[in-house]
Amino acid sequence: VKTVNVIGAGLAGSEAAWQLAEAGVPVNLFEMRPVKTTPAHHTADFAELVCSNSLRGNGLTNAVGVLKEEMRRLNSVVIASADETAVPAGGALAVDRDNFSALITKKVKEHPLVTVIAEEVTEIPEGITIIATGPLTSEPLAKEIASFNGSHGFYFYDAAAPIIDSSTIDREKVYLKSRYDKGEAAYLNCPMTEEEFMRFYNALIEAEVAPQKEFEKEKFFEGCMPIEVLAKRGVKTMLFGPMKPVGLEDPKTGKRPYAVIQLRQDNAAASMYNIVGFQTHLKWGEQKRVFQMIPGLEKAEFLRYGVMHRNSFMNSPELLRPTYQSKQREDLFFAGQMTGVEGYVESAGSGLVAGLNAARLAKDEELIEFPRETAIGSMAYYITHAEGKHFQPMNANFGLFPSLPERIRDKKLRYETLAERALNSLAEMNK
Ligand code: FAD
Repeated sequence: VKTVNVIGAGLAGSEAAWQLAEAGVPVNLFEMRPVKTTPAHHTADFAELVCSNSLRGNGLTNAVGVLKEEMRRLNSVVIASADETAVPAGGALAVDRDNFSALITKKVKEHPLVTVIAEEVTEIPEGITIIATGPLTSEPLAKEIASFNGSHGFYFYDAAAPIIDSSTIDREKVYLKSRYDKGEAAYLNCPMTEEEFMRFYNALIEAEVAPQKEFEKEKFFEGCMPIEVLAKRGVKTMLFGPMKPVGLEDPKTGKRPYAVIQLRQDNAAASMYNIVGFQTHLKWGEQKRVFQMIPGLEKAEFLRYGVMHRNSFMNSPELLRPTYQSKQREDLFFAGQMTGVEGYVESAGSGLVAGLNAARLAKDEELIEFPRETAIGSMAYYITHAEGKHFQPMNANFGLFPSLPERIRDKKLRYETLAERALNSLAEMNK
């Protein structure tokens, strides 16, 4: 069997390498960290989560929950490791980020068919190869990819939320609760009166942002928009977004606060909390000043400040097949965020498809396209069939699934039916 090169041991690359090795195909896995790092990574571990520690919804009434379930059934190392290192997060699957990455690193590195090579790859290698170098692909390789693809590369910028030392949160002022008391109480909530909110809002929109590099045009991804940019859209915008108070009545008063900021547990020991939805590009000193105005965070110590980065992706509808193969070169695959799937789980999911298919190519077997009815297949279909001109990265969502033959008005029932169809379709395919 031929050896396959996988470049990048992030969410997609780790999953791809695992799938290859589990299929009996030897892998050379290239990862540049710790020799060289990216502006968002902090460790040398595989599959590091660069921003939130949440892998989002875990139930089957949620498309990303369906995606996870499909991946579980396909022996995903990323989802298995997330399940093993989960922390309480209501209906979501959130993880202890250090344990999660350490576990994936161990499983992948210790696999007898995986050889890890700690170096930066600067050219696209010969032979069967999966490129999974992420939205922060190092410059030399990014240039190679851009020239290989012609003028189809894009880029945009997004941001990471600050993390706080939990022992510095004033527990008298905050309360533990999940929205609508769904699942285990998982979030610390910082309630605000209207007056406190207005003071905070004004400070936030006037705070100084970090100087920008030679950004051409700012293009934010909606789901990870800096809080100050969101705030500038209008006084009420945050109240319908990350500061939404519904379902978060303060147990002390029984009343719904005017606004609420949620803190989410970031590690198993609960020694770190992140401010949910508060990714930011403010200067660090300004982050401290403004975020300490949040009730309960007056003395907060920031373990990590929010940051903002380049985030590159390619014009996949022009360039890729649903197997994640390059249209121009059959033995070259791309996977992860750079293909225009958006999110940790989606990135890992595309790595899974690329890994399975590269393994088949190495064994001279026929490649597989996942049915569109599956969450995995719906993502592959989206990135290869979206309109190329306005192509934007996309999270898994039920809107990408083909519609049902009958119309089901009840949303929950509709989602459950779509989920059931997806899992049946996957089972059918694996027969
Ligand atoms: P990565 O996980 O970044 O993996 C790429 C790997 O390739 C890295 O380990 C890198 O070191 C390595 N590499 C790069 N260049 C080379 C080279 N030349 N040679 C060898 N190795 C190389 N998604 C969410 O779901 N939730 C979030 O909160 C979230 N926040 C984000 C915040 C930021 C700042 C960014 C940039 C993205 C965020 N995303 C988020 C989007 C996306 O889910 C993550 O970027 C995810 O890590 C993508 O997985 P990946 O495997 O494609 O890339």
